[in-house]
Amino acid sequence: MKIAFIAHDRKKEEMVNFVIAYERVFEGNKLYSTGTTGLRIMENTDLKIHRFMSGPLGGDQQIGALVAQNEMDLIIFLRDPLMAQPHEPDINALLRLCDVQGIPLATNIATAEILVKALDRGDFAWRDLVHKYKPISEEL
Ligand code: PGA
Repeated sequence: MKIAFIAHDRKKEEMVNFVIAYERVFEGNKLYSTGTTGLRIMENTDLKIHRFMSGPLGGDQQIGALVAQNEMDLIIFLRDPLMAQPHEPDINALLRLCDVQGIPLATNIATAEILVKALDRGDFAWRDLVHKYKPISEEL
Protein backbone atom coordinates (compact mmCIF):
# COMPACT_ATOMS: atom_id res chain seq x y z
CA MET A 1 0.00 0.00 0.00
CA LYS A 2 1.07 3.56 -0.66
CA ILE A 3 0.47 5.67 2.43
CA ALA A 4 0.98 9.42 2.84
CA PHE A 5 1.50 11.36 6.06
CA ILE A 6 0.92 15.09 6.38
CA ALA A 7 0.75 17.01 9.65
CA HIS A 8 0.45 20.72 10.26
CA ASP A 9 2.96 22.20 12.68
CA ARG A 10 0.91 21.95 15.87
CA LYS A 11 -0.07 18.36 14.93
CA LYS A 12 3.40 17.03 14.21
CA GLU A 13 4.05 15.67 17.68
CA GLU A 14 0.70 13.86 17.58
CA MET A 15 1.62 12.41 14.19
CA VAL A 16 5.04 11.23 15.37
CA ASN A 17 3.53 9.54 18.42
CA PHE A 18 0.86 7.93 16.26
CA VAL A 19 3.39 6.54 13.77
CA ILE A 20 5.63 5.28 16.60
CA ALA A 21 2.62 3.47 18.08
CA TYR A 22 1.77 1.77 14.77
CA GLU A 23 5.26 1.49 13.27
CA ARG A 24 4.86 -2.27 12.87
CA VAL A 25 1.73 -1.79 10.77
CA PHE A 26 3.36 0.80 8.53
CA GLU A 27 6.47 -1.31 7.90
CA GLY A 28 6.50 -2.98 4.50
CA ASN A 29 4.33 -0.29 2.90
CA LYS A 30 5.50 2.47 0.58
CA LEU A 31 5.46 5.60 2.69
CA TYR A 32 5.29 9.21 1.53
CA SER A 33 5.05 12.55 3.28
CA THR A 34 5.43 16.26 3.05
CA GLY A 35 8.95 17.46 3.87
CA THR A 36 9.02 18.29 7.56
CA THR A 37 6.44 15.72 8.63
CA GLY A 38 8.51 12.94 7.05
CA LEU A 39 11.72 14.23 8.58
CA ARG A 40 10.21 14.24 12.05
CA ILE A 41 8.82 10.70 11.59
CA MET A 42 12.13 9.34 10.30
CA GLU A 43 14.02 10.95 13.19
CA ASN A 44 11.82 9.04 15.60
CA THR A 45 11.27 5.67 13.88
CA ASP A 46 13.13 3.22 11.64
CA LEU A 47 10.73 3.85 8.77
CA LYS A 48 11.95 5.01 5.36
CA ILE A 49 9.73 7.70 3.87
CA HIS A 50 9.82 9.37 0.47
CA ARG A 51 9.61 13.04 1.36
CA PHE A 52 8.04 15.50 -1.02
CA MET A 53 8.38 19.27 -0.62
CA SER A 54 7.13 21.00 2.47
CA GLY A 55 3.37 21.52 2.40
CA PRO A 56 3.39 25.31 1.95
CA LEU A 57 5.92 24.92 -0.88
CA GLY A 58 3.87 22.42 -2.88
CA GLY A 59 4.10 19.11 -1.02
CA ASP A 60 0.33 18.74 -0.76
CA GLN A 61 0.07 19.25 -4.50
CA GLN A 62 2.75 16.62 -5.16
CA ILE A 63 0.85 14.08 -3.07
CA GLY A 64 -2.35 15.29 -4.77
CA ALA A 65 -0.84 14.42 -8.15
CA LEU A 66 -0.52 10.77 -7.04
CA VAL A 67 -4.06 10.86 -5.65
CA ALA A 68 -5.34 12.21 -8.98
CA GLN A 69 -3.81 9.16 -10.68
CA ASN A 70 -5.44 6.90 -8.07
CA GLU A 71 -1.97 5.79 -6.95
CA MET A 72 -2.24 6.63 -3.25
CA ASP A 73 -4.05 4.09 -1.05
CA LEU A 74 -4.35 5.87 2.29
CA ILE A 75 -3.78 9.44 3.47
CA ILE A 76 -3.29 10.46 7.08
CA PHE A 77 -3.53 14.23 7.16
CA LEU A 78 -3.57 15.72 10.65
CA ARG A 79 -4.84 19.20 9.93
CA ASP A 80 -4.80 22.10 12.36
CA PRO A 81 -8.40 23.31 12.37
CA LEU A 82 -7.60 26.30 14.59
CA MET A 83 -4.87 27.93 12.52
CA ALA A 84 -5.17 29.51 9.07
CA GLN A 85 -2.72 28.00 6.58
CA PRO A 86 -1.13 29.98 3.73
CA HIS A 87 -1.62 27.01 1.40
CA GLU A 88 -5.32 26.48 2.16
CA PRO A 89 -6.16 26.16 -1.58
CA ASP A 90 -3.64 23.29 -1.91
CA ILE A 91 -5.12 21.56 1.15
CA ASN A 92 -8.66 21.84 -0.21
CA ALA A 93 -7.50 20.55 -3.58
CA LEU A 94 -5.93 17.47 -1.98
CA LEU A 95 -9.05 16.71 0.08
CA ARG A 96 -11.22 17.16 -2.99
CA LEU A 97 -9.11 14.76 -5.05
CA CYS A 98 -9.37 12.14 -2.29
CA ASP A 99 -13.15 12.41 -2.63
CA VAL A 100 -12.94 12.30 -6.43
CA GLN A 101 -11.04 9.01 -6.33
CA GLY A 102 -12.56 7.59 -3.13
CA ILE A 103 -9.25 7.39 -1.29
CA PRO A 104 -9.40 6.58 2.45
CA LEU A 105 -8.48 9.81 4.24
CA ALA A 106 -8.13 10.57 7.95
CA THR A 107 -7.99 14.22 9.04
CA ASN A 108 -7.93 13.59 12.77
CA ILE A 109 -6.32 11.08 15.09
CA ALA A 110 -9.55 9.22 15.93
CA THR A 111 -10.19 8.36 12.28
CA ALA A 112 -6.49 7.65 11.73
CA GLU A 113 -6.64 5.00 14.48
CA ILE A 114 -9.63 3.32 12.86
CA LEU A 115 -7.99 3.30 9.43
CA VAL A 116 -4.65 1.96 10.66
CA LYS A 117 -6.44 -0.89 12.42
CA ALA A 118 -8.31 -1.59 9.19
CA LEU A 119 -4.99 -1.57 7.35
CA ASP A 120 -3.59 -4.08 9.84
CA ARG A 121 -6.58 -6.38 9.27
CA GLY A 122 -6.08 -6.24 5.50
CA ASP A 123 -9.26 -4.27 4.86
CA PHE A 124 -7.57 -2.28 2.10
CA ALA A 125 -7.00 -5.30 -0.15
CA TRP A 126 -9.60 -3.83 -2.53
CA ARG A 127 -7.02 -1.19 -3.41
CA ASP A 128 -4.93 -3.93 -5.09
CA LEU A 129 -7.85 -4.48 -7.46
CA VAL A 130 -8.01 -0.75 -8.19
CA HIS A 131 -4.37 -0.86 -9.25
CA LYS A 132 -4.79 -4.10 -11.21
CA TYR A 133 -7.80 -2.97 -13.21
CA LYS A 134 -6.91 0.65 -13.88
CA PRO A 135 -8.32 1.86 -17.20
CA ILE A 136 -5.72 1.70 -20.00
CA SER A 137 -6.05 5.48 -20.47
CA GLU A 138 -4.59 5.98 -16.98
CA GLU A 139 -1.47 3.94 -17.74
CA LEU A 140 1.04 6.62 -18.62
P1 PGA B 1 5.43 19.89 6.27
O1 PGA B 1 4.15 20.25 5.45
O2 PGA B 1 5.36 18.45 6.60
O3 PGA B 1 6.59 20.16 5.35
O4 PGA B 1 5.44 20.77 7.48
C1 PGA B 1 2.89 20.01 6.03
C2 PGA B 1 2.06 21.24 5.97
O5 PGA B 1 2.26 22.13 6.79
O6 PGA B 1 1.20 21.33 5.08
